[in-house]
Amino acid sequence: MRLDTCSSFKICGVCHTLHGTWRYQHHQLDQHCQCIYRRVRAGLQCAPAPWPVYDFNEVVTLCRCCGAQLLESGSRWSVWFCPECKARVVGLNQRYQRCLIPIGRHSMMNGFRLSGSECRNPSAVEQFVLNVRAMQDSTGLLVDWAAAIVSETARARGFPDGMDVTLLDYAHALEQHPVDKVSAFERLCAYFQNPVTIHT
Ligand SMILES: [Zn+2]
Ligand SMILES: [Zn+2]
Repeated sequence: MRLDTCSSFKICGVCHTLHGTWRYQHHQLDQHCQCIYRRVRAGLQCAPAPWPVYDFNEVVTLCRCCGAQLLESGSRWSVWFCPECKARVVGLNQRYQRCLIPIGRHSMMNGFRLSGSECRNPSAVEQFVLNVRAMQDSTGLLVDWAAAIVSETARARGFPDGMDVTLLDYAHALEQHPVDKVSAFERLCAYFQNPVTIHT
């Protein structure tokens, strides 16, 4: 994803997710940060209208492990990690032969699927439901971690707490002082083992 596609984007100072406006063909599309979706879930405002073509209203996001790399988004098949972090997450899941950390929102991306015959097998359906629930719990942890690492990274590079940071400024600061992705992955794993409350 080219940064200039979303040069107007900012990282929200409250939820630490991206928001901004970009152009798709003749449409001007607004990507909202998670603050808006929290209000939607609380019934405080209506959900934004779905974008054309995209599966959901997100064109870019930051890697959910290192918080340092911009990724394309908007497809149910979008991967949540940059290539380097994804390789570590996939390696971890392979080592334990189960989905400890999901790589995307679609159950099939994480190895869970029900074949036609399994749909008629109650224990297979039950296991599938349990797997999907566990994946949703892990996804929640990942969302919390992603906010924490972006917040920490911005703070460590001198951006004031609680203020939006432009994506360009954030990317520039990371060029000067890159994130240690090995350490980010180790800390992500530690957080999954012991998801203590993290302050963002
Ligand atoms: Zn926000
Ligand atoms: Zn990454």
